Amino acid sequence: RWLPLFGTIVGAAGLTIGYGLYTIHWLNHPSPDQLPFGDPSLPTIVLLGSGWGAASFLKEIDTKNWNVVVVSPRNYFLFTPLLPSCTVGTIELRSLMLPLRYITMHKKREVKFVEADATDIDPGLRTVTFEDKSEIRGEFSRGTLKYDYLVVGVGAETTTFGTKGVTEHAIFLKEIPDAVRIRRAIMDSLETAAFPGQSPAEIDRLLHFVIVGGGPTGVEYAAELRDFFAEDIRKWFPAVAKHAKITLIDSRSHILGTFDQKLVEHAEKAFKRENIEHMANTRVKEVREKEIVIAEKHREIAREIINGVAADVEKEVVKTSTVPYGVLVWAGGNGIRPFTANLISKLDPALQREAGRGLSINDNLAVLGAECMYAIGDCTVSKLAPTAQVASQQGAYLARMFSKFSREIDSLTSAGSTLAEACTRAGDSLKKTESFTYKHLGSLAYVGDEDAIADLPLGMKLSGAATFWFWKSVYLSNMLNIRNRVLVAFDWTKAWVFGRDISRA
Ligand code: FAD
Repeated sequence: RWLPLFGTIVGAAGLTIGYGLYTIHWLNHPSPDQLPFGDPSLPTIVLLGSGWGAASFLKEIDTKNWNVVVVSPRNYFLFTPLLPSCTVGTIELRSLMLPLRYITMHKKREVKFVEADATDIDPGLRTVTFEDKSEIRGEFSRGTLKYDYLVVGVGAETTTFGTKGVTEHAIFLKEIPDAVRIRRAIMDSLETAAFPGQSPAEIDRLLHFVIVGGGPTGVEYAAELRDFFAEDIRKWFPAVAKHAKITLIDSRSHILGTFDQKLVEHAEKAFKRENIEHMANTRVKEVREKEIVIAEKHREIAREIINGVAADVEKEVVKTSTVPYGVLVWAGGNGIRPFTANLISKLDPALQREAGRGLSINDNLAVLGAECMYAIGDCTVSKLAPTAQVASQQGAYLARMFSKFSREIDSLTSAGSTLAEACTRAGDSLKKTESFTYKHLGSLAYVGDEDAIADLPLGMKLSGAATFWFWKSVYLSNMLNIRNRVLVAFDWTKAWVFGRDISRA
């Protein structure tokens, strides 16, 4: 039991020393070029978003040859794979956030960051209109920028499949404010359940934690919640903790549909062992303030008379019922953002055939039907799963392609083309260069009680306690910055030694 603690302390000490040396190195490094922003002799790339795709693009792009402007309502990058851990306090929120300026300040030339939502794009004029929708606004809160190239990386939003009451009563798990809401709601329902005089039925309702969606996000949140109850809540709320129940509802017959079948079985067995109820083949029809209406599909044997002969017939039966809940987390799939839908409506519908799902792009990630416009990550439609791995590989690929562009633009402008002409023609020539190819590095999921599964390339399927340590080390090494690695390692150690914090902040 002490070995992991010792390992974590040694690891954290190593990372701290590493970070110290890195900071000293950085302080002695020449500061980024302080040229006034926007060299008119260089083309301008406007990058929308600060997520996986955009951050990876920014890290890779050589700003020596470009004016780069980032427009995003979020001034930080979020390491989403560990977000479920924040909902119960295993990891603190800021440990997963990397201010975008940490990335931009290390670039060769200044990168302009505008904290705003892009609200409109004019593909003909090549302009982006944006608006500051934050609480504090200045004299100006709207603006328009001209781009030579546009990179759209605005991600997706969680879809409700049009289910009534989801937006009003459920909590999504996508962004930092969602994790804050979930953590508050969990503690609120616990304190309310512990309020004197509550009936046992009401305590059962308040402490029924329901998750809709059996993908990695829903599964990992259920696993974190189970750990929180087993390791902390039982100690702090002994009288009511025994009423707590976790239920995961999914319309498919198995959770973690993209994983290998053996690993799915392992995860489902783990959930059974951990008393997480899995309601398979169940659709949520409506969400009310305190209950959900569900329709469960069953196969039943019914006796029927066929051609005058009695026979047992297997039939699919749909049973509708209500489930009382205290906290409902909705981890449905991805839906298109209104901004993306609006952009698609301005492009040729014959080329944008998947308008309801996202931007259609070609093999070079160029948006079909638009000039000098590229798109990466969850806002696009492709055969690839909407994952951080795909988005970040697309961002890095595009940045490398833009280096090829800049050489082409140089030679075209030297031959007499204007900058605008050169940008359009360089975009055409990119189409002939190598296509984006995705390299799958594997999928991981935490299933609770120090157990994880890993579906890796070359047919490697791992599960169990050692995979849990592998899961931790992979996520630590995939973080964009050493500061975040140190913070996460510290949070894990802190939760292990002192337990998770139960304040309702
Ligand atoms: P995002 O990372 O969502 O970034 C979108 C950006 O666009 C944000 O900065 C947003 O603020 C900004 N934006 C939104 N609207 C506008 C606008 N109008 N104008 C300008 N900017 C805008 N993937 C994995 O591979 N492995 C995992 O383990 C994993 N776990 C996950 C766990 C959770 C809880 C979640 C939510 C997702 C997880 N994913 C995982 C999926 C992964 O996070 C996404 O696929 C990835 O974030 C997509 O990257 P993106 O750049 O397309 O979009």
